[in-house]
Amino acid sequence: MDKERQIIHMDQDAFFVSVEIRKNPKLLGKPVIIGGGGDRGVVASCSYEARQYGIHSAMPGRTAKLLCPQAIFLKGDMEEYSKASHDITEIIADKVPLFEKASIDEHYIDMTGMDRFFGCMKFASELRQTIIKEMGLPISFGLSINKTVAKIATNESKPDGERQVAFPELRPFLDPLAIHKIPGIGHATYKKLSEMGVREILTLTQIPQQLMFKILGQHGLSLWQKANGIDLSPVVPYRERKSIGTQATFESDTMDMAKLKAIITGMVTGLTFQLRNQKKLTACITVTVRYTNFETVTQQERIPYTSLDSFLISKAHSLFEKVYAKRMLLRLVGVKLSHLVSGYEQIGLYNIAEEEYSLYQAMDKVRNHYGAEAVVKACIVTQPPRDETGKIIKYNPRKKKILIENQTEEEQQEVRKRSKIRSFMSEKGTIGTKSYD
Ligand SMILES: [Mg+2]
Repeated sequence: MDKERQIIHMDQDAFFVSVEIRKNPKLLGKPVIIGGGGDRGVVASCSYEARQYGIHSAMPGRTAKLLCPQAIFLKGDMEEYSKASHDITEIIADKVPLFEKASIDEHYIDMTGMDRFFGCMKFASELRQTIIKEMGLPISFGLSINKTVAKIATNESKPDGERQVAFPELRPFLDPLAIHKIPGIGHATYKKLSEMGVREILTLTQIPQQLMFKILGQHGLSLWQKANGIDLSPVVPYRERKSIGTQATFESDTMDMAKLKAIITGMVTGLTFQLRNQKKLTACITVTVRYTNFETVTQQERIPYTSLDSFLISKAHSLFEKVYAKRMLLRLVGVKLSHLVSGYEQIGLYNIAEEEYSLYQAMDKVRNHYGAEAVVKACIVTQPPRDETGKIIKYNPRKKKILIENQTEEEQQEVRKRSKIRSFMSEKGTIGTKSYD
């Protein structure tokens, strides 16, 4: 184990809510909920006072209202939160050489080697005070030998706190904590382990590694390591250029606007799927076109953090209209999403109707099983295959039956799962939240 590393984890306290309180101090000390308004919204974030009623992110607004009728629901302002996020990153970038922007309101800083010059705790404490003073927003931090323990330390110090866990204090700090304090444990895993009687980190460390692997696979091993305070993952420097993108070169140059927009829609849908899969958000979108004479033009726009199809598609279309200024054939279009940070999906799916939120979840689930092409917007669907006479070639259920007989038990289960999804999709005419697991 690397006892020598010095990693700081910094995390804003109830970030969205704190930005709202900064604007309207009367909200201080009240149960405030961002998102979840109206009948169908989803809670994006809530104050500590609201959390005391059992309210949490991604909960339907209606449930939150039942739990706490006097709660104050705010629509929120993602643009303002994104601006605050960028400002905090700038303060940190100004003071430290190596840091990672882990999410819209979280940063890791690697101070290894600097401790001979600064006391790390003193340095982190001062940085925290600077952010509080310059931003007017509360923040907490943890300092330890790796990212996992630093993050747990932050969470234990919250709100408005700081906590150092040096190597000798590692076990006394981790042992008594509940296992759900381990970052990334997930609800299903937590349930499985607590049903086995594993509720504290100490108990988890006593399970043999091989057994953890047997029960939970690779994820089990990683949990075991985290419980034992082992985490070798590096602080990945924050690069503004972190991005994902895609482009298409046409077989024959085109200026068919409908087709071009459909292609862009398809590109954005593919990219946002990747984004949500990696639990990332983007804050910048770029559209590129290349004319038939090889002249290449791009248009870029800074946007509030998001991973939403609908928002990004309309942005991509309006950028495309701006960038495609000449009535000349195009040989290429491309879309790029950059300034990526990790973000919980509810932040990206912030402030949208519950149905839309569920729709994204369901679409992504289907795509994860059957590939990115499994669910697409109707406007980019290609024509179904036809035979020589022009008749649409239909799916033959008999063929599937024969297939099943030659399959292993596992493959058959997979097929049954698929048919369940299909029937569910056709029953409702649209995809719903209830699916196979
Ligand atoms: Mg936070």
